Amino acid sequence: MGTNRLLTQPRLLFGKGGAIGVEESAGLVRISLQGKRLRSRGVVIRMQQALVDEFVELVSIDAESGDEGEIAAAVAGKLRVIGLEVEIDAAGNVIGRAGEGEPVILCAHLDRVKPGKGIRPVVEDGVIRSSGDTILAADDVAGIVAILAGLRRAKEALGALPAVEAIFTVGEETHLAGSRRLDYGAVRGKMAYVFDASRPVGVVVTSSPTHVGITARVMGQAAHAAVNPQDGVSAIQAAARGIVRLPFGWVDDHTTANVGMISGGTATNVVCDDVLMRAEVRSLDHDRAVALAEHFANVISLEAATVGARANVTTEVEYRGYRIPSDEPVVRRVVRAIEAMGLEATIESSMGGSDGNIFNANGIASVVLGIGCEAVHSTRERIAISQLEAAARLAQSLLVTA
Ligand SMILES: [Zn+2]
Repeated sequence: MGTNRLLTQPRLLFGKGGAIGVEESAGLVRISLQGKRLRSRGVVIRMQQALVDEFVELVSIDAESGDEGEIAAAVAGKLRVIGLEVEIDAAGNVIGRAGEGEPVILCAHLDRVKPGKGIRPVVEDGVIRSSGDTILAADDVAGIVAILAGLRRAKEALGALPAVEAIFTVGEETHLAGSRRLDYGAVRGKMAYVFDASRPVGVVVTSSPTHVGITARVMGQAAHAAVNPQDGVSAIQAAARGIVRLPFGWVDDHTTANVGMISGGTATNVVCDDVLMRAEVRSLDHDRAVALAEHFANVISLEAATVGARANVTTEVEYRGYRIPSDEPVVRRVVRAIEAMGLEATIESSMGGSDGNIFNANGIASVVLGIGCEAVHSTRERIAISQLEAAARLAQSLLVTA
């Protein structure tokens, strides 16, 4: 199917070195080349239809985290048809390479959250949504489709593929598992664009927090709750004393905290002796995140001790945050690419993590790009076809804009 799409790519839209302009009004997309409007509306519609078709094809493949084999094979096959050399690494990540010189890295993730099985996308009124009982998986199939289309269109525009590494990761939604296991010794690019922000196309996310996970086990003493409660030490009460002293939500304008899970106890007539709780803190300031996690650990331990319980608390940096200044080459290149599309670039920070955190921690300057999906990780997830088209143009623009 990839071959057919390649053949239907319209050559006339892409002259070498020609500036491609795009404007949208009343849902109609107009494309111009070097200021001269091209009126081939049929061609534009065919290009958008190819994007929608590929989107529907890929979201229809089941690919919840841990089950990416089939979509990985499909994406690898498409990359080979486009002309990249493709490898699937031990983790299951798909890496496609082409061109000479230092490549630009384009990245999206193959996996999706639950409920992401049996997705039946609905295309209606210029929008793609799920049928309501699953997510849509525009996060991150929109990123995959944008990169694939961008590669095809850039190849058409330039006559050959530019230097590129296309990296499609597994397990992004489960602690960035795939990008952690990439062989960074083999990655040649120094700048990466991660197509994975649920923001409009044009948004460039240049900072992301450090995320510290906290696991606390609070241990008391079991006893009959009515016969000899004086012999018991309640782990629930001990944990609760700590929890009420912890900050929740926004701690300051760039730091959040949450106790998200708590479990323990077996019956109302037993003094509970074992509670497990999991919490997290995030901050755009790395040291602040680490210090706040230490504060969590101290509060939980001290408060447990006041009622005679013990706490075993571990903290772990899940991923390290980053802030990339706007004058860095990785930001300047994408701003130029966005402006070449006739859009305005918007620099934002995010409190979420992505493969960009792992890339940055491994010395690859990375930003995350808005791809237009909305209400991700919910059954209301949706994406406008015009945004999907804009994300594809952005991938193309990044590849042809040096
Ligand atoms: Zn995502």
